[in-house]
Amino acid sequence: MNLKHALKNPVFKIISSSADELGIECYVVGGYVRDFLLERNIGQDIDIVAIGSGIELAKQVAKNLPNQPKVSIFKTYGTAMIRYDDIELEFVGARKESYTENSRNPEVENGTLEDDQKRRDFTINALAIGLNTSNYGTLLDPFNGLKDLENKRIVTPLEPNITFSDDPLRMLRAIRFATQLEFEIDQKSLEAIKENFQRIDIITKERIVVELHKILESPKPSIGFLLLEKTGLLDIILPEITALKGIDEVEGQRHKDNFYHTLEVVDNISNHTNNVWLRWTALLHDIGKAPTKKFSKKVGWTFHGHELKGSKMVYHLFKRLKMPLNNKMKYVQKLVFMSSRPIALASENITDAAVRRLVFDAGDSIEDLMTLCEADITTKNPRKFKKYHNNFKIVREKMVEVEERDRIRNFQPPVTGEEIMNAFQLKPCREIGIIKEHIKEAILEGHIPNEHQAAYDLMLKKGIELGLTTAS
Ligand code: ATP
Ligand code: MG
Repeated sequence: MNLKHALKNPVFKIISSSADELGIECYVVGGYVRDFLLERNIGQDIDIVAIGSGIELAKQVAKNLPNQPKVSIFKTYGTAMIRYDDIELEFVGARKESYTENSRNPEVENGTLEDDQKRRDFTINALAIGLNTSNYGTLLDPFNGLKDLENKRIVTPLEPNITFSDDPLRMLRAIRFATQLEFEIDQKSLEAIKENFQRIDIITKERIVVELHKILESPKPSIGFLLLEKTGLLDIILPEITALKGIDEVEGQRHKDNFYHTLEVVDNISNHTNNVWLRWTALLHDIGKAPTKKFSKKVGWTFHGHELKGSKMVYHLFKRLKMPLNNKMKYVQKLVFMSSRPIALASENITDAAVRRLVFDAGDSIEDLMTLCEADITTKNPRKFKKYHNNFKIVREKMVEVEERDRIRNFQPPVTGEEIMNAFQLKPCREIGIIKEHIKEAILEGHIPNEHQAAYDLMLKKGIELGLTTAS
C-alpha cells in the first residue's frame, strides 16, 4: 500500500533527501500515521525512526531546512527534536528494548524497524511509512495495525501481559485511546490490564494526569472512567470516585448511584464545554457525598455539607496527583462548593436578592456554575427534566436582568475606603470595614441601587449610627 498522500508536508521530502544523503533508512511512525489514516486532526508532532542514529539524521535535516532551525538533543534517550513552523519533529534511532521488574526504563540496544515497531504499545500505533526514495510512501504494517484501525480495536503487538507489565503506563494509554477514538480494547488485552493494574504504582503521577486529561477531553469521557473502574485502575488513581459507587437501602429508601450519576454529568457537560477544568468539576462535584452520607428515619438519605467537604477533598486530590495547586484548583474547589446553590435557588420563588447573591459569590464563574448545574440534571422523568431545565432558564433570565441593572458580577464597592476616611477624618480602622460591608449588603438585598450617591448617603447614615462625626 502506498501512502504518499500522507506525506504532503514539504518537510517529508527534506527528511527523505537528508536520509538518502547519509545512507540511513528512516520512517514516519506512530500517532502521525494512525491519525492520518483515521482522518483525524493530525497532531503537530511527527515521530521519525532512523535505522541508525536519530540524532545524526536530525542534524542533517536541520541543515537542509530553510533557516536551519535548532536541534535539541536528549543524549540520555538518544533522541533529537526540531521545531519547524508549528511542527515538532522527533527523531529516534530504532530500538530493541528489554525491561526489568521495577522500572519502566528498559535496557536499550540498536534494532531493526521491526524491533522498534514491536516495542510500541498498540498495533494501531506501530504503523510506519517509508521515507527513503526507494520506499517513499510504502506502508509497513507487520502487526496488522491497519486491520485493527478498520475494526476499531486496541490490540498490543506482543503478548499483552508483557506489553503492560513492561510499561504499565500503556494500560492507561489503552483506555485513553479507547475513549478518544471510541475503539474497543481487545478482550485479551483487557484481561491483561485487569491482571496488571496494580503495577500502575510505578508510574509517575504527572504521567497519569496527562492520560486522565486526555480521557476528560474526549467527546464521551465516561467510556474511559467505566474502563478504569472495570479494570481496578480507578480505585488506585481516583478512590474518591469509586467511593460513590453503589446504592444503599434502609427501610425501603434508596439513594441514586452517585458514581453512574457523576459519569452522566461528565458526559453531559462535555456536550457544552471544552474547558477541561469545568469537566474536572463535573467529575468531582459529588465526591463529598461518600463521606457525608447519612440515613435518618425522618428524612431518609442525606448528604449534608457534601459541597464543603467535597471542595476540601479537591485540594487533597490535586495534591496527591501532583497537580498544580493554583487558580485552576481554586476554580474547581469554588464550583464544587457552590454546586448546589443554583438548585436551591431554582426550586424556590426566585427573588432578585437571591440572584444578586449568587452572582456576587460566583463572580466570573457564574456561567460555568450554571452549565454545571444544568449538566447535573440526570433525571429520567421527562416531566421533571423539563421542569428543572425551565427553572434554570428562569434563573438565567433573571441573572441577565439583574446584572444589567446592578452590575454585581465584578462588584467594586461604590464608595471607597478612602472616601470613608475623608468623610469622617479617620485613619484606617474597623469602622471602615463595617461601613463597606453594610453598603454591600444593602445593595445585594436591593435596599439601595448600586450607585455612588445612594451608597454615599448610606455611608453618612451608618457612620453617624456608629458615633462618627463628619469632617464638615
Ligand atoms: P498522542 O500524540 O495523541 O498522545 P501518540 O500515539 O502520538 O498519541 P505519543 O506519546 O506522541 O502518542 O507517542 C508517539 C508514539 O510512540 C506512539 O504512537 C507509540 O508508537 C509510541 N509510544 C508512546 N508511548 C509509548 C509507550 N508508553 N509504550 C510504547 N510505545 C509508546
Ligand atoms: Mg503524538
